[in-house]
Amino acid sequence: MAVRKILTAPDPILREISKPVAEVTDETRTLVADMFDSMYAERGIGLAAVQIGVPLRIIVMDLARNGEEPQKRVFINPEILSASDEMFTYEEGCLSVPEYFDEVDRPAQVTVRYLDEDGKQHEEEAVGLFAVCIQHEMDHLEGKLFIDYLSKLRRGRAMDKVKKVVRQRERNA
Ligand SMILES: [Zn+2]
Repeated sequence: MAVRKILTAPDPILREISKPVAEVTDETRTLVADMFDSMYAERGIGLAAVQIGVPLRIIVMDLARNGEEPQKRVFINPEILSASDEMFTYEEGCLSVPEYFDEVDRPAQVTVRYLDEDGKQHEEEAVGLFAVCIQHEMDHLEGKLFIDYLSKLRRGRAMDKVKKVVRQRERNA
């Protein structure tokens, strides 16, 4: 297990389309463990493999609140089977766009099919924060970031913020 560096915008790797996992193996599970370590190190609630530079269709998530037991979830090769017409607005953030938050509209409910860490297939309805998070993370698999939904002005502000944060981190490193 290892904490790996999380790529930040505008790293071109974040724009790559992730490839399906052909078979869930021990290697996949090692990558998943690294993803959790990297996500927890930055206090994130979701992470796609491409964010640590591995363009494979793998997402990890933990929506447990502070003080609750961890709720580790793994989504391999996820697909959205259906999405509601009803929309939901949430102030999103992203470890690849550090310290910037803004509102995004997405379908309020989605049905998602995925494989777990053991390669077993599941189908599940997602609502609320779970629906937001799975759609946000699945966008990463298509090379898309939440700031792509924002106006040019707001996207510019987000990128200014990222540059500033990255500079600060380099100084403190
Ligand atoms: Zn993200």
